[in-house]
Amino acid sequence: MTMDRICSHEGCARDDTAFCQYIDGRGKECRTQWCPKHLQSMHGADVCRRHAGLLRAVGAQVSETGLPLVDNRAPSLVNWVFRDIEFAVRALLATDGNVDEVAADTTVHLSTNGSGGVLWQQSLAIHGTASHRVTVAVDDATPTLVSIHVDNVGVFQEEPPWIARRLGRAPSDSDPYADDTRFYGTIRMRIADGLSAGAPKPAGKRTASR
Ligand SMILES: [Zn+2]
Ligand SMILES: [Zn+2]
Repeated sequence: MTMDRICSHEGCARDDTAFCQYIDGRGKECRTQWCPKHLQSMHGADVCRRHAGLLRAVGAQVSETGLPLVDNRAPSLVNWVFRDIEFAVRALLATDGNVDEVAADTTVHLSTNGSGGVLWQQSLAIHGTASHRVTVAVDDATPTLVSIHVDNVGVFQEEPPWIARRLGRAPSDSDPYADDTRFYGTIRMRIADGLSAGAPKPAGKRTASR
């Protein structure tokens, strides 16, 4: 057994490893080593779990700039949060309880923010009697902050609790399950509030405050 060929997966001792084949838009390779059990095949390449998530997030379509940089976790974070809230948001957007009438981006898209920075985002939209768009976004400049926009208005921005845990910033007595549940609960509440703020109020039910 040669130590320099040991699988990078924590606790895995196999040494029949190969390199992750991810190469980013600037030609930089991942170069981490994994055994066959801990490599995943994505679009014909054998890649590590992290880069499989990244490829799943951005899809097979490569933009002009090529694949996201090796160290960029922003697209995966957008896609992760998007998939976790997708069904709930479909239900919030559906006018007749028909979640199928809601159109969703299948992958994360690259766009630019007002100041020319890079923004990764994935949206759900409905175009009917009411037209709404809900977007999950992460700015490359603040790669751990998840933003939610309802009809282009920011309604939420927070660092997910699992990132705080990974970076050692979570309080030692924190409860991972409760923290994650609260994070998603707040997102759903803000989206619901954002949608009702934007929706035309039925006549006669208008209230002075909101
Ligand atoms: Zn392994
Ligand atoms: Zn990799």
